Amino acid sequence: ETSATLAEFDGNGTTADGHLVPLLANVGGAKDAVAAAALGAQGVGLFRTEFCFLERDTEPSVDEQAAAYKAVFDAFPGKKVVLRTLDAGADKPLPFLTDATEPNPALGVRGYRTDFTTPGVLERQLEAIARAASESEADVWVMAPMISTAAEAGRFASLCAAAGIQTPGVMVEVPSAALTAATVLREVGFASLGTNDLTQYAMAADRQLGPLAELNTPWQPAVLRLVQLTVEGAEQESSGREGTAKPVGVCGEAAADPALAVVLTGLGVTTLSMTARSLAAVGTVLKTVTLEQAQELAQLALSAPSALEARDWVRAKLPVLEELG
Ligand code: PEP
Ligand code: MG
Repeated sequence: ETSATLAEFDGNGTTADGHLVPLLANVGGAKDAVAAAALGAQGVGLFRTEFCFLERDTEPSVDEQAAAYKAVFDAFPGKKVVLRTLDAGADKPLPFLTDATEPNPALGVRGYRTDFTTPGVLERQLEAIARAASESEADVWVMAPMISTAAEAGRFASLCAAAGIQTPGVMVEVPSAALTAATVLREVGFASLGTNDLTQYAMAADRQLGPLAELNTPWQPAVLRLVQLTVEGAEQESSGREGTAKPVGVCGEAAADPALAVVLTGLGVTTLSMTARSLAAVGTVLKTVTLEQAQELAQLALSAPSALEARDWVRAKLPVLEELG
C-alpha cells in the first residue's frame, strides 16, 4: 500500500526495490546551494557558473571566480558537486564571450564553442575551479556545455588534466553527442544530459518560443530515444573494461517532472538533478516503483506516437501522482 506524502521524503533517491538514483540540485550560486542542501539535495548535479557573472561585461578574475565556486562547494562538504564551465550564448549572453549580433544564437558560438573565438577564458576558469576545489571538501566534477564531437570532449579532458582536474565530463545536449555517445565517453569520465537543449535541437524548436511549447517537451519519444542511445553508448564504451558503465545523469528540467523522472530512471540514467523545490515530489514518486516497473514505463513512453500520449500513458500508471496533487 503506497500512501506517500511529501512529508515522508527523506532526501534519498531510490526505487521501491532499493535501486539508488541520487537526487541532486541545479544551482546558480551559493544562495541556491545553501537552500538546496536544506531541502535534502544529495549534492549538486549542475552548477551553472555563468549565472555568477551575468551582470559582468569583463571577464572575472581567477580570484573572483575561485571565491564564487568555493562558496558553492562549501555548501556540500563530502558531497558531489558537478560544475559546468561557462555556458554563455543564446539565452544567456555574456558580453566578454559572446557576439550579440549573431543571426542564429542557439546555433552559434555558445557554451564550449566560445573557446574557438576567445581562447584563454576556459583555461583561466579551470585554474579557478581547481584552486577552489583544492580548498574545499566537496567532490568536484567538471563538465563542458554544448559538446558536439568526441574531439571536443577529448580536448576538454586535456585542458582539465592540464589544470589538475581529474574528473572531466560533458553535457550531452546536442543530438550529435547523443548519437556518438560511446566515442564521446571514451574521452571523459561522465555525461550529463541537458534535456532542455537536447529537446530544442532534436525538435528544431527554439526553447524560448511559447507557440512551440508542444513540440518542445522532453516527453517527445524522439528525445527519450536520444536519452536511451546515450545510456547505451556509455554501456558500450565500458564493455570490455572492468567496472560499471560511466555515469550518465540528467540535469535538464525533465528530471523535475516526477513521472518523467521515473521514465529516465527506467532508461538507465544514474542521477537526476533538478530545481531543489522538485526534489521531494520526485523522490516520493520514485519510491513507489521498482526498477523493473520504471523500465516498463520507459518502454511504454518510447513506444508512444506522441509526447502527449507518452505522458498520459505513463501518468495513468502512477496513481501516487494524484495523491501529490
Ligand atoms: C539543458 O540544456 O538541459 C541544461 C540543463 O542547461 P541549460 O538549461 O542551462 O541550457
Ligand atoms: Mg543547455
